[in-house]
Amino acid sequence: MSDPVADSLTAPVALTDSHAHLSYVRDRLGEAALTAIFQAYAGTAARILDPGVTYNDFDDRLDAFGDWPFVRFASGIWPDVPALPSISTALAQLERAVRRPECIAVGEAGLDYHWMNGTAAEQASLFQGQLELASACGKPIVVHSREAALATWRLVKPFAGKLPVLLHCFSYDGEWAQRFLEAGCYLSFAGNLSYGKPDTLRQALRAVPANRLLLETDAPYMNPLPRRGQPSTPLDIGRTYRLAAEWRAVPLAELAASVATVAAEVFGPGWAGLKPAGATR
Ligand SMILES: [Zn+2]
Repeated sequence: MSDPVADSLTAPVALTDSHAHLSYVRDRLGEAALTAIFQAYAGTAARILDPGVTYNDFDDRLDAFGDWPFVRFASGIWPDVPALPSISTALAQLERAVRRPECIAVGEAGLDYHWMNGTAAEQASLFQGQLELASACGKPIVVHSREAALATWRLVKPFAGKLPVLLHCFSYDGEWAQRFLEAGCYLSFAGNLSYGKPDTLRQALRAVPANRLLLETDAPYMNPLPRRGQPSTPLDIGRTYRLAAEWRAVPLAELAASVATVAAEVFGPGWAGLKPAGATR
């Protein structure tokens, strides 16, 4: 008997994707990729979160995907301080997007000490502003953290007990996973599970209880093997589910159901909520 998720290279199925940049997918792969995503997800209960990366990208994303019944939106500013008019101006404009009902979360927001766009202090200020915004608006926050585990942990800790804090594309080890979990965070894993250094991410993945675990593509990035390096779409997520199920020794269907449940808990009523009728493609 064939396994629909295992066959996802050729026969995609709709699975929860907690992080996919659909406008980048369109830019990299064109309309045909969007049509394939729409055909796989429309009419299913699965959802895709489209995160923001800067203070003024919300309207364009809403224009492009706002009528897709399975897409939900977050709005946030990626840690690239030199690209902003100023931190305070950018945060003020972001707040207008975050307060809209179509925006169900803040993010992505965080720290990136790999690219280091802005000093650590500037990145912290931009991130702190978004943590406070999420808290003020009562919305969850999706966190980007690269080579900055300790600084991220310090900043999210005071918030993680008050609102859902989701670390996306988790890339640290099992000990860090444990520390973020103890702080109250949710962790989301991407296709880099299938890349080198398997023990580090495998331990992290196994440290996460099912009720804190999400999965994502981070499309168009992080395409799981055997397509590493090629642009991904949410239709590539089946291989990440399959690997995660294998490493956690749980049936795929159970993992898929639990990720869907956790996403609904993290993102609140707007996650499952009905969209206006008439969405077509
Ligand atoms: Zn992202």
